[in-house]
Amino acid sequence: MENLRSNSKPNLWTVHKFGGTSVANSERYRKVAQIVRSQSSLSGNPTRQAVVVSAMSKVTDALIELTELAVKQDDSYLAKLKTLLEKHVSTLVELIPAGGDFVERLHADFRMIEEVLRAAWLTRTCSERTVELIAGHGEIWSAQLLCNYLNSLGVNATWLDAREVLVVNPGESSVAVDWEVSQAKADAWFAKRTEDFIVITGFVASSPDGIPTTLKRNGSDFSGSIFGKLLQAREIIIWTDVDGVLSADPRLVPEAVVLDELSYQEASELAYFGAKVVHPATMSPAIEDGIPIWIRNTFKPTLPGSRIGNTSPAKKTQTPIKGFATIDGMALVNVEGTGMIGVPGVAQRIFGALREVGVSVVMISQASSEHSICFAIPSAQAALAKKTVEHAFFAELHHGQIQTVDVSADCSILAAVGDAMVDHPGVAGKFFGALGKAGVNIRAIAQGSSERNISAVVDRVDSQRALRAVHSAFYLSHQTLSVGLIGPGLIGGTLLDQLSEQAEKLRRDFKIDLRVRGILSSKKMFLNEQSIELKDWKKTWSDGGEPADLDRFISHIKADHLPHAVIIDATSSGEIPKFYPKWIRRGLHLITPNKKANTMSIEFYRELAQSARERGRHYLYETTVGAGLPIINTLRDLVQTGDRVEKIEGILSGTLSYIFNTYDGTRAFSEVVLEAKARGYTEPDPRDDLSGRDVARKLVILAREMGLGVELSDVQIESLVPESLRDVGVDEFLKQLPQHDTAMKSLLAKGEVLRYVGKISEAGKLSVSLSRYPSSHAFARLSGSDNIVAFTTARYHSQPLIVQGPGAGPQVTAAGVFGDLLRLASYLGTSS
Ligand code: ADP
Ligand code: ASP
Ligand code: MG
Repeated sequence: MENLRSNSKPNLWTVHKFGGTSVANSERYRKVAQIVRSQSSLSGNPTRQAVVVSAMSKVTDALIELTELAVKQDDSYLAKLKTLLEKHVSTLVELIPAGGDFVERLHADFRMIEEVLRAAWLTRTCSERTVELIAGHGEIWSAQLLCNYLNSLGVNATWLDAREVLVVNPGESSVAVDWEVSQAKADAWFAKRTEDFIVITGFVASSPDGIPTTLKRNGSDFSGSIFGKLLQAREIIIWTDVDGVLSADPRLVPEAVVLDELSYQEASELAYFGAKVVHPATMSPAIEDGIPIWIRNTFKPTLPGSRIGNTSPAKKTQTPIKGFATIDGMALVNVEGTGMIGVPGVAQRIFGALREVGVSVVMISQASSEHSICFAIPSAQAALAKKTVEHAFFAELHHGQIQTVDVSADCSILAAVGDAMVDHPGVAGKFFGALGKAGVNIRAIAQGSSERNISAVVDRVDSQRALRAVHSAFYLSHQTLSVGLIGPGLIGGTLLDQLSEQAEKLRRDFKIDLRVRGILSSKKMFLNEQSIELKDWKKTWSDGGEPADLDRFISHIKADHLPHAVIIDATSSGEIPKFYPKWIRRGLHLITPNKKANTMSIEFYRELAQSARERGRHYLYETTVGAGLPIINTLRDLVQTGDRVEKIEGILSGTLSYIFNTYDGTRAFSEVVLEAKARGYTEPDPRDDLSGRDVARKLVILAREMGLGVELSDVQIESLVPESLRDVGVDEFLKQLPQHDTAMKSLLAKGEVLRYVGKISEAGKLSVSLSRYPSSHAFARLSGSDNIVAFTTARYHSQPLIVQGPGAGPQVTAAGVFGDLLRLASYLGTSS
């Protein structure tokens, strides 16, 4: 249809409409001027621009409030009127320092309004007509502001007071355009104009007898499409403060996405059910002439926005639901009684009576038993509706054929809209399933006969939760993870840097959406509703934040509206792991490089494993042994595929690996230890490494993974800290260590090396000890701080399975944690 039309008649006009936020101050008017000027020079198409503007942000509200104050004889209206005048004058002066003759006109308008308000003050009444007259002035001023500004820039522009051409028949809550008269007037007006830019007042119109009126609240979108039709425009562009029509109100659902394309019907339904971005009346003039409507962002004019138009028949690939919306402030009326069964015309009587008194019914649902009818109406009309229905069914109520007319106040309607719903079975199931999972109580259900809409009435208190739950069920990948990091230290911080580099690619190429929504240390925390901008996380973290509150942190990460949540404990704390079972039971997944959790009592370990199993949550800790090396996963694969692990032997400490790979007797042992410390390879107190406890912990983790119920105290440890140096201070220890160099050297033998090795024997015994290996042995050929683990199993019997590589350091450890995160995402991706 669009093509036909554009072939038969050149469509010279583009109609723009700028909403209140787009013209909130002088800066914004500048932006608007820039946009319309750049649009006219686009594509070499000789288009003319009609620019429909709203009043400056909040001005319509303020004007209406003036009338209310004056009627109440509240004198503050005078001061408010003055503020309003000043706002316009200062905006004008900021745009055009010389002001021009528009200043005079502004003053004249304000004097007129002051007189009208004075009359309202005196008479304590203000007719509907007067309110309409005053309310429309925001647009009258806004259009002149823009036009004068364009002229000051040398742009060939003029302005049109829409009241001169647009004629409407006022109704209760909407108006009907008199197209014939309006078209004739518009044609006459435009025939005389040659300007490239015509600025038009939104919102205002005249009644058939020439009285100023409006198109009702938020009516400027409607003005935009009315002028689109009157001018036979090629397109209508509604400029606003969001990137387009989103899959839900972004203020309620932060993860709403921009819809590239919608049909007129989809847009109408969304608008009708409360998506404020377009006014419901906007569509009809555009539909009649097949004019596409674009919704675009004034603040990001390079984005394409959303296109509303005639779309091709629903494609299979299309998401079945495009958008969700809620309307709050609803009441649900339930008419119930056996006397309604099989009686024809009951519904007609109810809705007929309600129409008579001007109650607008937003949604109707009737049980197929015809035992009850319920319908949703604006709360403000609830009492009137109840009275009306009771009156209409007075006799039935009296005779008990109708038992009750119940009103539940404080309800909301939640609607899902999409043309392609009809081709996708199971949409309703998923919709209601998501509500069920979120624990939302559904009060009534209706599905539009076009199958383009499913709506449910829910309690007002549940409204946002319900919206987020259904939105997430249809829009978010199962691999969307709310991530909370505890401990942004060396490993945690490196992880954030790595995530920062990869997050975008993961989202784009693999649909894995990792959102770090919180960081917590022992002192403070930083939370973000959507996702912390990781590029600048260090600055964000050092500049901002609030005192740490672990409970609040966990509740924030476990957001209802995101499919999954995971906590990464990158601390070495012994306290944090105590919370793991509780967090898992709350539904969080857990990833940790912290060795403490898996080496607490075996009862705790079992409780942890069991809560994860029962709750279907994942608990991943690959980096607790050998940093990023695939040691735990290798062992787990062996066990799960039915292999029998006979023995594990390995060098599991990067620090001790380095010390013994370096120590060959040419230098003193103490010297090598000091060097390792100087290079940052050891803990601040090197005895934490030399004591063998760290290796023992790793052995316990591996043994438990094999199914052995061992405790840390079961490990036989040969400590490398001489007995006499165990209780002295660090400095004293370092000072005295050389005294033991000779003893260490005596352990060396020719052709052999010393290695500090952890073992799990065939008998299930765990030990950590210093052993000698021939220089041909795999353990002798390590370098740097490499780790090595040899698994001897039934399958790998004569030749053990060996995993070897860098087993320490923040980079590889963080990469290992990252690996766990991706593993978690892939489990979640396949599980649903
Ligand atoms: P304008 O002043 O430009 O007319 P409105 O405030 O009337 O702007 O409408 C734009 C607002 O609509 C957005 O800021 C957004 O908060 C809200 N909104 C509600 N639902 C949606 C949706 N589905 N898509 C986009 N925006 C929406
Ligand atoms: N200024 C009017 C209002 O606030 C019309 C509009 O902006 O759409 O209702
Ligand atoms: Mg609007």
